[in-house]
Amino acid sequence: MTAQTRIPLALAGVGKIARDQHIPSVAAGSDFELKAAISRHGKIEGIENFEDFDAFLSKRPDIKAVSLCTPPEVRFAMARKAIAAGHDVLMEKPPATTLGEAETLAVLAREAGVTLFATWHSRFALGVEPARAWLADKAIRSISIVWKEDVRRWHPGQAWIWEPGGFGVFDPGINALSILTAIVPGAILVETASLSFPSNRKQPIAADLAMRTVSGAPVSAAFDWRQEGPQTWDITVKTDAGTLRLSKGGSELFIDGVEKSSGPDREYAGIYERFATLIRNRESDVDYQPLRIVADAFLCGERREVEAFED
Ligand code: NAP
Repeated sequence: MTAQTRIPLALAGVGKIARDQHIPSVAAGSDFELKAAISRHGKIEGIENFEDFDAFLSKRPDIKAVSLCTPPEVRFAMARKAIAAGHDVLMEKPPATTLGEAETLAVLAREAGVTLFATWHSRFALGVEPARAWLADKAIRSISIVWKEDVRRWHPGQAWIWEPGGFGVFDPGINALSILTAIVPGAILVETASLSFPSNRKQPIAADLAMRTVSGAPVSAAFDWRQEGPQTWDITVKTDAGTLRLSKGGSELFIDGVEKSSGPDREYAGIYERFATLIRNRESDVDYQPLRIVADAFLCGERREVEAFED
């Protein structure tokens, strides 16, 4: 696509993921041109910068596509205003802090006739689509998710992540759930959950979930933010025809130990290609199943207090 036909884009929330992934992926792709940023402190050189979302909406109605890269607790208000102003909206994960907010946005976007894309970046990891295709005609016997990382390494100084609406360890854990719900047909039901809250924090630092596929296979998930040293983002699926393993957040796929898929990361390139396709087709993509599982875990979960956590 030429520069003239690129879709003008604004980005709200110039923080870690905006700088690590969104800005370089938009620049490397051919669908969008980044024209404006909205952030109270962060600025992007060479484009128009706003500190206030309302000011952006009133001054640049011509920039029709908006990427919301803020933390989830401010996303609903921004998305609602952007939709009302006729913008096409991309939302980072998790799409909202409650199912009610998420479902409301889907309805508002439909009524306004704009595109709403609730992204799950891990679904664009290289091994995920081949894993879904391989599992489609297999009988699943059991699934084990182990998602253990060091919060100090991945979320330095991000106070919002420990506050209500910040998701705690479910911020990375929901990535695993987004893969799970993409590769397994049918609903995933939460049976029990054990949520570990540090005595000085409002969100869990670890969570153990026992779930079941709709066809009855057990699914366990161990999420932990206290993992130092090697980091683990693995999903293992035992089936009647062998064992599938997704490693490194879905970027590597193994069937019975043999590597089937790996390569350079294309998660955010894939997200922006999909956003462009959705806009051109006047469609939305709003699958809230990963968020529903997290909500169910909080609803039926047992809470226990663990040692205080210091940054
Ligand atoms: P971050 O580094 O804290 O950046 C978010 C930016 O949003 C901030 O820099 C801030 O910029 C702006 N913001 C607006 N309202 C805010 C508020 N009430 N509290 C805090 N910041 C506010 O966070 P992030 O890691 O980029 O994560 C943003 C979203 O992307 C989250 O939903 C996260 O789950 C998702 N995500 C993150 C990663 C990752 O590796 N970090 C990976 C994938 C997805 P101003 O102060 O300039 O307004």
